[in-house]
Amino acid sequence: MTQIAPPRRTRVLHRSSRETPPLAVGGHGVWIVEAGGREVLDASGGAAVSCLGHQHPRVVEAVQHQVGQLCYAHTSFFSNEPAEALAEELVGHEPGGLAQAYFVAGGSEAVEAALKLARQYFLEIGQPRRTRFIARRQSYHGNTLGALSAGGNAWRRAPYAPMLSDAFSHVSPAFAYREMREGEDEPAFTARLAAELEAEFQRLGPGSVAAFLAEPVVGATAGCVPAPTGYFRAVREICDRHGALLILDEVMSGIGRTGTLHAWEQEGVSPDIQAIAKGLGGGYQPIGAVLVSGAVVDAIERGTGAFQHGHTYLAHPVACAAALEVQRTIREEGLLANVIAMGERLERRLTERFGNHHHVGDVRGRGLFRAIELVEDRRTKEPFDPALKLNARIKSEAFARGLACYPAGGTADGRRGDHVLLAPPYIVAAHEVDVIVERLGEAVDAAL
Ligand code: PLP
Repeated sequence: MTQIAPPRRTRVLHRSSRETPPLAVGGHGVWIVEAGGREVLDASGGAAVSCLGHQHPRVVEAVQHQVGQLCYAHTSFFSNEPAEALAEELVGHEPGGLAQAYFVAGGSEAVEAALKLARQYFLEIGQPRRTRFIARRQSYHGNTLGALSAGGNAWRRAPYAPMLSDAFSHVSPAFAYREMREGEDEPAFTARLAAELEAEFQRLGPGSVAAFLAEPVVGATAGCVPAPTGYFRAVREICDRHGALLILDEVMSGIGRTGTLHAWEQEGVSPDIQAIAKGLGGGYQPIGAVLVSGAVVDAIERGTGAFQHGHTYLAHPVACAAALEVQRTIREEGLLANVIAMGERLERRLTERFGNHHHVGDVRGRGLFRAIELVEDRRTKEPFDPALKLNARIKSEAFARGLACYPAGGTADGRRGDHVLLAPPYIVAAHEVDVIVERLGEAVDAAL
């Protein structure tokens, strides 16, 4: 089919200032349609966003209905029905003690709000010295300055280092493939990570840490890395012992992506504050949320009575209506069962295709959140030279084959290799999983 090539440079400042991506003009199921008619299989749901796929009729109708009812009413005057119903859907039965939801416009805003809520909580309960946050290296929490300060991705932080906050320190990631030492087993690895976190609490001093922040399954910066068994239980125990809060960033890994609605359900812990975003609105509208425990909400209510933070588009009615329908669809259509079944198939297919591949060191992940890690040498785990830009080459080889996947990585410090992240919509069918792996296999071989 003929491609309509967009001009090399348009008035939109694109991610790359050197090239303009093709125009996407339509979508259905797991497919995105370009101007000219080519169809691309959306194997990463964008950036793990499109959990229902594209143009799901239920959500399209819900958005259209809400646009006809009410598009905007400022939250300093009004609440709105979709926001109230969405909060009820998310925390109505208080999962893990999470009692209220605060709606923002995306993941970075959710993380910023989570950090500020933690700070305000300690002001309300008379512990103003708690100003420090501990996070992990090789994590990503967003691109705004607070969230970027929390994140541990050296490449993203570097240009803005002079603008970042020193309220954050970073401990080792729970990344078994890269961080587990020779002769160490999972319990010993977990114990070492817990000891390091404990030492960081000690170094910062009693009563100074507000919260520990982590992604339950690390997404973009490390490539679908779940923690070893027992890690989050150890973390929870350390936070509790030091009187600090646990903030979990489920912006990418949450809302069913790993097979349970919340990734923390598989860890045997629950957070005090949780950030969610991508799968919340499924891409139908920009929306994120902070889920807050009853204890934190009560402290604010007993104290100043208001969260001292806000944005113009809090609890946007159209965004909430879209997210509400996405959440109801996931629940009513039992889509988590498909996440588990298709996630297992994806893992199986990836292992068959790449398990013995000379340049694939690891196949990992949970649910429909999977990655392969590429290495120069499988035995030594030596990554490829980042200057080769292998991840960009795989991305373009895959795209040329009608596959959108999410390659990232390659760090000069040699602590991780390039990886390709896959996060297809929860409605993906078995034959589509097979197409993903087939096209990815061809792309990897062509790029190497
Ligand atoms: N936290 C995590 C774990 C993420 O993966 C992301 C985005 O990729 C963010 C926060 C930031 O979300 P957003 O891009 O919606 O601001």
